[in-house]
Amino acid sequence: MNFGDIFKNFRKQQPSRDEAPSHWVKCPSCNSLMYYKEVENLSQVCPKCKFHMRIGPDKRIALLADAGSFQEYDADLVPVDPLGFVDKKSYKKRVAESEKKTGKRSSVVSGECTIEGIPVQLVVFDFSFMGGSLGSVEGEKIVRAVHRAIEKRQGVIIVSASGGARMQESTFSLLQMSKTSAALKRLAKEGLPYISVLTDPTMGGVSASFAMLGDVIVAEPGALIGFAGQRVIKQTIGAELPEGFQRSEFLLKHGFLDMIVQRSEMKSTLADLLRYFSIGIDGAPEHKPVPRRRKEDKLQMRQVSEHMNDLSAKDDNQTHAP
Ligand SMILES: [Zn+2]
Repeated sequence: MNFGDIFKNFRKQQPSRDEAPSHWVKCPSCNSLMYYKEVENLSQVCPKCKFHMRIGPDKRIALLADAGSFQEYDADLVPVDPLGFVDKKSYKKRVAESEKKTGKRSSVVSGECTIEGIPVQLVVFDFSFMGGSLGSVEGEKIVRAVHRAIEKRQGVIIVSASGGARMQESTFSLLQMSKTSAALKRLAKEGLPYISVLTDPTMGGVSASFAMLGDVIVAEPGALIGFAGQRVIKQTIGAELPEGFQRSEFLLKHGFLDMIVQRSEMKSTLADLLRYFSIGIDGAPEHKPVPRRRKEDKLQMRQVSEHMNDLSAKDDNQTHAP
């Protein structure tokens, strides 16, 4: 073996630049360079500016579920390709690539766990699997989780991170919006709670269906939440849009969200909410139908509408007064 061979072997043993583990993380918000362990210890939240970086479903579940309590369901449900869809690549190829990248078979992980001892159905989106898009399998997994919740008298938590409907499944994907909404309506009729957690990003058909149907809608700070993207809206309405109008803070201010919760406090907040709703969850409660509107309520409604009429009549008079 000559010197050349020795150097060749030495070079082979060195990981390439792509393979080398990066020990430094750059915050996308404040550009600070931090040691990865520091960020990891804070569940991927920047210690300097509190920017919440995206996290995968495994980390999310570890963060929310009591240790060792998560039991996954329907992990082997796999997308089919009903339309034989091909854009730049075939749908089948895209799914295979995502499977290889994430080790998951769809963009949703669903199962049962306890949160501070309270049993709950937990559904978590994986944005790195085809942009967390909502296809037939994802919709089916959500519906099955809701059905398990009804059967076991539990609440449902869905953590969304999605670009919206999966265009490769066309109408089959859009159908999941109504299918999941209908299942959640059944859950509501049973008097069981659904808490929706919106993380960065929650867009398109996901925000236009189950993500915005929570009894309580919680979001992480700074999450992008909306239907169409900013550029599309601007082109359509031809107007300047306010700064950060699709971020959690703006949406909370305008009544779309109930609360913004730091990642470090998400688990205890969800447990508090479940406890708040759990009157009736523990010990298999009786089904309580939604009470019909009582006579007094109807009377009150009539009084309110009469009052409004009076006000508008007064308004008209003022407008027409000389
Ligand atoms: Zn930062």
